[in-house]
Amino acid sequence: MKIEPGMTALVTGGGSGIGRGMSMSFARRGVRVGVCDIREEDAAETVRLIEAEGGTAKAIRTDVSDRASVDDAVAAVETAFGSIAIACNNAGIAMHGVPLHEISAADWDWVIGVNIRGVINGIQAVIPRMLASGRPAHMVNTASIAGFQVNPTFLTGAYSMTKYAVVALSEGLRNELQGKNVGVSILAPAAVDTKIHLSERSRPDRLGGATVRPQNHFMGDLIKGQMQPAEIGERVAAAIEAEDFYIFTHPETKEWLDRRHAAIDAAFAKAEPLAAPAAAAAE
Ligand code: NAD
Repeated sequence: MKIEPGMTALVTGGGSGIGRGMSMSFARRGVRVGVCDIREEDAAETVRLIEAEGGTAKAIRTDVSDRASVDDAVAAVETAFGSIAIACNNAGIAMHGVPLHEISAADWDWVIGVNIRGVINGIQAVIPRMLASGRPAHMVNTASIAGFQVNPTFLTGAYSMTKYAVVALSEGLRNELQGKNVGVSILAPAAVDTKIHLSERSRPDRLGGATVRPQNHFMGDLIKGQMQPAEIGERVAAAIEAEDFYIFTHPETKEWLDRRHAAIDAAFAKAEPLAAPAAAAAE
């Protein structure tokens, strides 16, 4: 889809990091951006940065884990700027450093609520409007390279689970929208220099409110000085125009996926003896 000046975008998690990077890249192309974030003051700062460059944006406090809040945000963006052409379901939180069997019930609700429900809510609130508008539109769902393999050292099983879900939702959505005017992409970065290690300050009140989760903090060192959100924003804008479905940003991570695929290939080799009787039975 060609990104045209005057289009409308909605970006969740737009108050920081990758969401801010995408918001600014869209705004530089003349797109009017609804910057949605649970931290309203951070969304307002993104708007200030956009306006300082001559762009147009609006900050909207949104909790993506709450369907009513997402519906309200979508309505507010469309009232301000017209029908949404670009929607980025990007808000997400880290959940690293604790073995799966020790993660608290509250943390499971939070990571599933934001990282999975948030994307479902975005799909359900925005896609019907995109289809009804009859205009070209595009949805970008932020997964992660963690949506394609599970890191062996950082205890990322829960986070990865949610990102695999984002990949499946996006692949399903793409299948369902074949032949329609709405494109879909999955954004799958590795380390980006953002505030994701401070995720716990964004825990919604309805899921327990801000908390302290020191297990995330090692990530601060891991991502410091890595790829900048502005680079991701430009990559995403280019990918929307090229209609790329998978948006990878860190070429060095391909070998992680290659390893996983090699293990799956090897496992399938053991299924081969089972194929002959099954085929015979089908005849
Ligand atoms: P970030 O913490 O800098 O930005 C995330 C934003 O989402 C924050 O402004 C936060 O307030 C907001 N947010 C959190 N919960 C919310 C909620 N319930 N409703 C609305 N907004 C909420 O982190 P980031 O790295 O820019 O993360 C953006 C996305 O990128 C996430 O989905 C993350 O999983 C993904 N990601 C990040 C990295 C990385 O290395 N930083 C790598 C791969 C994928």
